[in-house]
This record gives sequence, C-alpha cells and structure tokens, in this order.
Amino acid sequence: RAKAEGRNTYGFYTEDLTRLASQRLELETRLRRALAGGEFVVHYQPVIAVADGRLLGAEALVRWQPPGEVMVPPGAFIPIAEETGLIVALGEWVLGTACRQWREWLDTGLQPGSLAVNLSVEQIRRRDVEGMLREALHDTGLPPRWLELEITESSLMAQGEQAEALLAALKALGIGLAIDDFGTGYSSLAYLKRFSIDKLKIDRSFVQDIADDRNDLAIAAAVVAMARALDISVQAEGVETEAQLDLLRELCCGSYQGYLCSPALPADEFHARFLARR
Ligand code: C2E
Ligand code: MG
Ligand code: MG
Ligand code: MG
Repeated sequence: RAKAEGRNTYGFYTEDLTRLASQRLELETRLRRALAGGEFVVHYQPVIAVADGRLLGAEALVRWQPPGEVMVPPGAFIPIAEETGLIVALGEWVLGTACRQWREWLDTGLQPGSLAVNLSVEQIRRRDVEGMLREALHDTGLPPRWLELEITESSLMAQGEQAEALLAALKALGIGLAIDDFGTGYSSLAYLKRFSIDKLKIDRSFVQDIADDRNDLAIAAAVVAMARALDISVQAEGVETEAQLDLLRELCCGSYQGYLCSPALPADEFHARFLARR
C-alpha cells in the first residue's frame, strides 16, 4: 500500500513537473518570439531630487506587450529569461534601446539627466558585460557619463572576483554604478569601501512604512547617514506619499522614485510630461 501511494505521489509529481516544464518551455518560446517580433517596450520612471523636485534622470524598466493582450510586468518574465539565458539578448536590447533614446533626446537639446539600466547577475555570469557596454555606447554614441548601471548587492556578492573586474571596467568606461534594492540582500557592508559605488537605492520595503514604523525610519536614516559619510548618493525607491517624501527630506536623502511623482512611462509620455515643457 505504501508502495502504491508512493507510486501515486511520484506519478502526481511527475505529471505536475512535466506540465510545469512544458509551460516554461512554452513561455520561453513565446519570449524568444516576442524579442524577435518587437513586443518588448522600455518604460522610463523619473528620478527626482528630494530637495527641489527637479528631474535628475530616469530608470529604464522593460515591459512585454503581446499584441491585443494586457501588458506583462517584468516580474512575470525576467526570472524565466534569467534561467534560460534569454536575459542576455533581452538585456542587451533594453540597454541599446534606452541608450539610443537618451542620445536622441540629448541631441535635440533636451535634458533627460542620467539613464539607469538594470543589470542581472545572469548577464554577468553568461556574457562579457564590458564588451556589451562598449558596444552599446559605441553604437548609440551616448556619452558614458549619462549611463548608470543598477546591480543588486546579492548579484555583486555572487560574482566575487568577476564582479571586481567588472566594476573596475565600469569605472574605466566612465559609467556610474548603483546598488539596487539596498538592504534586502545578504551581504557584508565591506563591499561599499572595496568598490567605488556611486549610489545606494534604499529598497521600497524600507520606504513604505517610513512614516508609521520607527524601525524602518531608523534604517532609512542610518543608510542615508552612512552613504553621506562614504560620499555615496542615496535614492529612495517606491515613494508614494507626501509624508514619506517629507521624512526623506528631513533625512537629507538625495533623490527618489515613486508613484508620488510618476510610475514608469512610455518614452513619448515621459517626453511630454518631463522633458518637453522644461
Ligand atoms: P527595480 O529595478 O527595483 O525597479 C523598481 C520597481 O519598483 C519597478 O517595478 C517600478 O515600477 C516599481 N515602483 C516604482 N515606484 C513604485 C512605487 O511608488 N510603488 C510601487 N509599489 N512600486 C514602484 P517593475 O517595473 O515591475 O520592475 C520590477 C523589477 O524587474 C525591477 O526592480 C528589476 O529588478 C526588474 N527589471 C525591470 N526591467 C529590467 C531590465 O531591463 N533588466 C533587468 N535585468 N531587470 C529588470
Ligand atoms: Mg532597478
Ligand atoms: Mg530596486
Ligand atoms: Mg526591486
């Protein structure tokens, strides 16, 4: 009987895993076609100075727009793209698209500020990221000082010496480096002095309850103080209320992103709202 149950259980899992595997394969195939078919779009979320509300730049965030369907957020496909390696081609496409857009705006005399692009650990693992960056800058003609890469601390830690070489290469190219989702990863703070980091982005989970939770406020205050002492910029992610912004201003946090100002927007809307009327 135990044997029968065991077999049933095994059968159940096998069926389940097979179904999951084929769903993943289907999604992977769809993602590959989507990339070839131009179904991905890059949206831009403004980065704003806490002190005076001026535009400092934007973060490029990818979305999938299958024709006739609702827009798919990155959380639904980035993990699969990372597992399958498609992130290499997708990430390269996002970088090229965003750099080209920035170059176009700069060329027409607009002031879009800095462009932040997310870099996945799988890109570092699977591809010569330095080569990719050189190529993107060369092909688009974007001056490297406008570009900032966002890497999570876990990605940085996972890469060890490879990360160190990459960060040195970024510096040599003149590209900025931001630590994304700061405070959520397992890591020692030692990397802050080992690498030359330009910006820490305080994760949304600490910002969210900053007005109601004394511990979150204490964490945010400590991150801001530490960054300032180390001469690193600090940016708050996910600011949704005036109360949160007021507290960040009191802490002397440099910049923020969040729905309070704007979600990520298609290029034309970002242009209309943040560039055209300046
Ligand atoms: P992230 O890099 O930490 O990006 C911030 C996320 O927070 C974005 O979600 C943004 O839309 C969202 N957000 C911004 N302000 C607010 C707010 O006030 N409230 C709330 N609730 N959310 C806010 P999104 O666009 O869904 O992206 C999720 C994650 O997907 C990103 O987190 C990033 O890790 C990844 N991702 C997005 N685009 C790319 C890409 O081109 N390449 C790679 N490797 N990853 C990407
Ligand atoms: Mg980011
Ligand atoms: Mg983040
Ligand atoms: Mg995040």
